[in-house]
Amino acid sequence: MIRFRILGAGGAIPTPTHTPAAYWVTVDGTPILMDPGPGALVRLVHSGDAPGGVDEIGTVLLTHLHPDHCCDLVALLFALHSPLTDSHEPLHLFGPKGLQAYLDQLAGIYGRWLEPRHRELNITEWAAGQQLDLPGGGTVQTFAVDHPQDRFSAGNCLGYRFADSEGHTAVFSGDTGPCSGLEKAARDVDLLVVECSAPDGMGVPGHMTPTEVGLLCAKAQPKLVALTHQYPAAAATDLRPGIALHFDGPVVQAQDGSLFFVPLKSGEENPWSAP
Ligand SMILES: [Zn+2]
Repeated sequence: MIRFRILGAGGAIPTPTHTPAAYWVTVDGTPILMDPGPGALVRLVHSGDAPGGVDEIGTVLLTHLHPDHCCDLVALLFALHSPLTDSHEPLHLFGPKGLQAYLDQLAGIYGRWLEPRHRELNITEWAAGQQLDLPGGGTVQTFAVDHPQDRFSAGNCLGYRFADSEGHTAVFSGDTGPCSGLEKAARDVDLLVVECSAPDGMGVPGHMTPTEVGLLCAKAQPKLVALTHQYPAAAATDLRPGIALHFDGPVVQAQDGSLFFVPLKSGEENPWSAP
């Protein structure tokens, strides 16, 4: 089973309901923190999904190195430098080419403050087409997406495809414009978590609009679509009619806290951000 928590359904500009990227994905019981943007750790502990806090984080995936997708990596590594953490398990950090150079630059600023006190740090730079085998038979696969990241990971931005031991699947687009890598990865997937940064007429290169998401889904035919990475204008607009012009499957416009299960069943909405 795959449990897909959207901790942050917004882009770089936070709103009360849509904060920057953060995802907590559990595949056959193995938890993965994906794209820890600003505030990700706070939202994770508020969600109730990780009662042990940072000690429960064993695997981190990054799609690319824009700050709204990775800046809480600094917060995580600094927390793990504290002698007050308990876990002695390795921390596995996966991301695109350029990840090591990014961490080296951070070390130039923070020195040893970002070295976990009790935990071995394993860093893996990934290209498209690679696979991580998870305990219990699930997998994570990488695919190439089209997003302008001109420092550290230029031309190497990734999306992720998760599969559990029974073949159920979920895809996360990362940040991307329409591209063949995403279309292929999303084909017949059970859950497609796809960025939809702006309403039609306000689109920017390297991101998606409802029309572009609709055209993608018409080709890929995902069983359920969840819209994420919504900048304020997108978050304030019902994006689904623009998608429905091209795709007649179910579409959910996610908020912070939206939760999805694969195989599909109804998710609880927005449990942590209620005032
Ligand atoms: Zn980005």
